Amino acid sequence: FILLIITITRLISTVGKTEQWKSSLPIELSKPNNILFKNVINDPKTIEIASSDYGNLVHEFPAAVFRPTTVNDIVSLVKLSFNSSVPFRIAARGQGHSTCGQAMARDGVVVDMKGLREINNNNNNVGIKVFKEGNYVDVGGEQLWIDVLYGTLEYGLAPVSWTDYLYLTVGGTLSNAGISGQTFRYGPQITSVHQMDVVTGKGEFVTCSKQKNSELFHGVLGGLGQFGIITRARIALEPAPKRVKWVRLLYSDFSIFTKDQERLISMKGSKNSSLDYLEGMLLMHQGPINNWRSSFFPLADHQRIISLVTQHRVLYCLEIAKYYDDQSEINVNKEIQVLLQGLNHIPGFYYEKNVSFVEFLNRVRSGELKLQSQGLWDVPHPWLNLFIPKSRILDFNSGVFKKIIYKRNITTGPVLVYPMNRNKWDNKMSARIPDEEDEIFYAVGFLHSSGFDNWKEFDAQNREILQFCNDVGIKYKLYLPHYRTQEDWTNHFGPKWTTFLQRKFQFDPRMILSPGQRIFNNN
Ligand code: FAD
Repeated sequence: FILLIITITRLISTVGKTEQWKSSLPIELSKPNNILFKNVINDPKTIEIASSDYGNLVHEFPAAVFRPTTVNDIVSLVKLSFNSSVPFRIAARGQGHSTCGQAMARDGVVVDMKGLREINNNNNNVGIKVFKEGNYVDVGGEQLWIDVLYGTLEYGLAPVSWTDYLYLTVGGTLSNAGISGQTFRYGPQITSVHQMDVVTGKGEFVTCSKQKNSELFHGVLGGLGQFGIITRARIALEPAPKRVKWVRLLYSDFSIFTKDQERLISMKGSKNSSLDYLEGMLLMHQGPINNWRSSFFPLADHQRIISLVTQHRVLYCLEIAKYYDDQSEINVNKEIQVLLQGLNHIPGFYYEKNVSFVEFLNRVRSGELKLQSQGLWDVPHPWLNLFIPKSRILDFNSGVFKKIIYKRNITTGPVLVYPMNRNKWDNKMSARIPDEEDEIFYAVGFLHSSGFDNWKEFDAQNREILQFCNDVGIKYKLYLPHYRTQEDWTNHFGPKWTTFLQRKFQFDPRMILSPGQRIFNNN
């Protein structure tokens, strides 16, 4: 016990004292005779891309971008840094769809996983291998979820847990958690992983699972890139449905809305008697009722929905889906009817769509393409994502949705609010959820887009929301967290902090990986 205390004290005192970092291209990488030299790119355009992300708020310039063509290239790169007298920082970059510089490496090296993806996809798609007998798929950490979907559907199978948007990499979402409307039932994406190959911060290539090298396995899942670079993940598959019944219902009363959401995610019974997906969102008087995440409501109904929103200032929209096969549409209609019995939505405001499985899972893509064509995709995104304990969600509604958001009157983008079950998460993994005893907690996402001149207003609103939570004692956890001080990170991880530290010292003792998260490298 005393030894443990001494070790922990040593670890804590070492954190924050980072080594001296190189500020230009690491000497070893700049030598043309170095075997890795061919993978190094440092032209201004490539450097600029690697110094930006979806958030468009933080810009950190790396010394070089590294395009691996094999997993061995990644091993050699990390080893090179680890064995240098002065190590250089390394960040894997999946799609760079973080919002606060998490995939950046100031003065270090950004590993552009896209390089590996393109090579693997051109080489008989070796990045995605389906094992039909075992009901799993082996996917490269560099792969996009949309490609995993298409690759597994060829075998009539698919993963069960998704994100709303599929143009994200496997390594990127597994470093966070990967949540969506399926999480209440199947857990976040990290709980669908059987096994991984990881390149640790020492440059070791390690295969890990719950049984083998389990510390690394649990550490990496939700580990914000701190312990290793995921080069392969084995993900569970189930038979894929063909079609989806997709329904939206409107509410004016938040407590009725959340009661119905909680009831629906708590239904037990056979596969048929429960939903496959549940989310929720706000419809606000200042914003359009359809947004880039999905355009759903029929044009003919827009006016009457807008009138209702104007009357109530804010409406709550419950979104659910049930999967089925081509031939069982009559059955799914009956099942939906049974599931929705006793719900208390506003009568007459029931909308449904019947779409293919791919169309449903890939529902955000068309909105993205539209925004891209209007030049509105690469704008600043001051996002805020939170997990709120169920016991305080009504306080959150009255203090935030009804007051802060209404008062500031700037939120026009999607605001998501949906519950999930704690027992579908694995506490050994690094991902953080609220500590409260409640079995249910809510994901709340403010997915703002802003102009280059007014993102600070949204940032100020985000800070006001967090301040409100702190003032009234709502013990939230940030999802896709971003903090600047060691104290904030310690608070974020709470009882998991000691384990997180121990894992860092075990797998990345020279603090090389994912410096953009600013957990261990604050300078
Ligand atoms: P990056 O931004 O490139 O990297 C994120 C972090 O992971 C960095 O620290 C990076 O170093 C590390 N990393 C990247 N690849 C690896 C690897 N192979 N091994 C180890 N570490 C690695 N999230 C959800 O959970 N649900 C959603 O529905 C959802 N919707 C989104 C919609 C949009 C439009 C956007 C922009 C984001 C959304 N996200 C969602 C957030 C998203 O999951 C995270 O930002 C995720 O990290 C992005 O993946 P990426 O490949 O772009 O990762």
